[in-house]
This record gives sequence, C-alpha cells and structure tokens, in this order.
Amino acid sequence: MNQQTLALHAGYEKDSQGTMVVPIYQTTAYEFENTGHAADLFALKETGNIYTRLNNPTTDVFEKRFTAMEGGTAALATASGMAAIFYAFANAAEAGDNVVCAGQLYGGTLTQTAHTLKRFGIEARFFDVHKPEEIESLVDDNTKVIFFETLTNPSIDVADIEAITAIANRHGIVTVVDNTVATPVICQPFRHGVDVVVHSASKYTTGQGLAIGGIMVEREGLVEKLKDNPRYRQFNEPDESYHGLVYVQMPQAPYTLRARLALLRDLGAVVSPFNSWLFIQGLETLPIRMPVHSQNAQKIAEFLAGHPRVCKVNYPGLPDNPNHAMAMKYFKEGMCSGLLSFELEDFETAKRVVDRVKLFSLVVNIGDSKSIITHPASTTHQQLNEAEMRACGVHPGLIRLSIGLESAEDLIADLQQALEG
Ligand SMILES: *Cc1c(COP(=O)(O)O)cnc(C)c1O
Repeated sequence: MNQQTLALHAGYEKDSQGTMVVPIYQTTAYEFENTGHAADLFALKETGNIYTRLNNPTTDVFEKRFTAMEGGTAALATASGMAAIFYAFANAAEAGDNVVCAGQLYGGTLTQTAHTLKRFGIEARFFDVHKPEEIESLVDDNTKVIFFETLTNPSIDVADIEAITAIANRHGIVTVVDNTVATPVICQPFRHGVDVVVHSASKYTTGQGLAIGGIMVEREGLVEKLKDNPRYRQFNEPDESYHGLVYVQMPQAPYTLRARLALLRDLGAVVSPFNSWLFIQGLETLPIRMPVHSQNAQKIAEFLAGHPRVCKVNYPGLPDNPNHAMAMKYFKEGMCSGLLSFELEDFETAKRVVDRVKLFSLVVNIGDSKSIITHPASTTHQQLNEAEMRACGVHPGLIRLSIGLESAEDLIADLQQALEG
C-alpha cells in the first residue's frame, strides 16, 4: 500500500463502536481475566495489555502506523526523542563499550553521547559524516552502535547512508539513524541497509508543535545480525531480569522487545496515550505536509542565496550545495524538508536579524506548521564549547530556519525586511 494510505489506516482495526478516530485509552492498567491469564501475559505466552508503562492500545496504533510508514517490522514509542535515542544506545552498549557517531548531530544527542553516556562508562567516538571511511579506524570489538542522522540538525548535511551501512555490515555492527528531519516521507533508511531508525515525534510527526515524544523502529530481519554475534551477548544469553528469556529466540523483533521489556520497564520514559493520539493525528497528514515544507524551503533558500548580506546558505535542494548529490540519491522526489540555515557575518548581526523578524517565531523547535527561527550559538548549542560547536557545524553567525506551511512569499518578505532594516 502507498504511504499516504498507510498514514491514514495502518495499525487500526475499528472496535465494536465503529469509532473512526483511534480512541484514547487513557488508563494506567488493565484487568486480567484470571491468574492464569495474568501469568501468561507476564510470561509472554500471550500478548496483551498489562500496564501502560509497557504497552497501551493507543500507543500500539501509533507504533504500528509509524512502523508501516518507515517500512520496518516493530517499534517502541517513548516519552521523547532523546529517550528513544538513549534506549537505542543502551539496548546494545554497556559500561566498557563504545559507540561511533557522526559529529554532525542534534545538540541534545551530542551532549547525551559525549557526556551522559560517558558517565555510564560508554565512550562516544566521532567521525565526520562526509568521511564515512573514518569509521574504519574508530571501530573495535567493543563498538556496539554506529549512529548518524540522515539529514542533520542543525548543520543540514546529508549522510551517505549506504557507505556507512556497508562498513557497519562488514563489522556486524548495528546502525541507528535519526530520521527526524527527513521523516519517512522523504527518506526510508531501511531501504539503504539501516537497522534501527529513531525519531523525535515532537517535530514533523505532530506537525503542529503539540507534544513531546519519540519512537524507535526496527527493520525486518535484524535478528540475523544479532544472532550468535559476539558483540551482542545480551540478545543471545538468558536475561536474568526476565526469567532467562533469550531475545533472539523470541518470535518478536528482538531489538524492540528488549527495549520494551528491559529498558522501558526499568527506566520508564513512556509516552502518554494522549500524546500517542496526537502523533496519530499528525501522521495522517505527514505525506501531504512534507512536500509543502520542502517547496517553501526551496524558495526561501533561493532567495537567501541571492541576498548580498548572506554569506552562505545551507540547503541540500540548492544545486551548488555540497550535499545536493546525496539528497538526490536518498530523498524522494528531490524533497529536502523544511530545515535550512544561513550564515551572516557574525554573532551580533545574526542576533539583530533574529530580533527583527515578525512572522517567524523565535523558538527552539523545528517541524512546526508555523515558521521558526533560531540562533544556535546563543540557544541550543550554547552549552557546547567552541570545538564541539564547530564539530557539529555551528558558526556564531548561523541562523536556522524551520520553514512552515505559510505562503513562501510572505516568509520571504519578512526575511527581506529583517535583513535590510
Ligand atoms: C528534537 C530532536 C531530537 C530530540 O527530540 P525530543 O523529542 O526533543 O527529545 C533528536 N534528534 C533530532 C534530529 C531532533 O531534531
């Protein structure tokens, strides 16, 4: 089925009431039929609802629908994108291990990997997303994950997905990709060999800046990579915390199953059923919205590229952009999403322009239907030192725009008055 159809129907069977809208199952727990039924559910002999920290029927629809749109096999929704990313790492890596990440990352992911994972004894090693060959010298027997973003935020680079997954596959290492900015409408990483896709659902999924959430999606057949792979003992040996369950021997997708049973159970960053419901509403229009975000961003990038006060524009849709060829290879119908950035001379000039725009809101978010402007050096990337900032492509005069669904003409007029005023 086509993605637009899946966006409206996948994962939902109408109940006896014939409810058109997926109901919000706002409940903490579920009644068992008897003690035998309860025991079977806990032993995974039967699938069913136990407690909303582990599963919820509304969240289940969100997970199934997102899985269908990514072309994966199973998914785990979480309370935020950061939680989905942490679970994707923590599922494979533990103290003494390392993860190899592209340096061009979302600010929160950079602090999580460089600082927080380090405190858990997991070392993060960084490669330049434009030089996948650097991965070879960084991986060793303790490397558990190779992580990168398909379309990077905020540096707007496009990863050579197949070059990275080829190296990962040679070493039998799990690849995790953050597909938040591209969305499954523009890019489907599983088609290019990626094992696990993570998203912040807070962005284009809700589409209207309505709620925080995240999701981790697993590809079909990942079990083959994990089975008998010495890197992934925890999937091959009995889990003592779950009465000796061996994940690769279960019929369910193992990466998602372990993240649910071991991580969500014990760490608890569960999404609320109401937020899952909001994400379901968002997904219904995602395939309609992404082309408009992309067309608007293209027009604005072209305007900025021709403006004398702008030093540089980063948008893969521009033919002279160094990421253009990768975008044309991996992105559907030339769509490049709504995120773009441009550089003004310095920190102060950038601040002045940000303070002068009227239609754009100064907000640290992306993927809203309303256009957003941010100055990473004074906000999202403020906590990073200068070397870290440079490593993720943040110049002091860099302004990031998340182009919404307004008329491109009005957005251009606003930018023009801010640049020239
Ligand atoms: C926002 C974002 C995240 C973090 O997601 P939250 O839902 O805010 O926790 C991760 N990756 C990317 C690319 C993002 O834009």
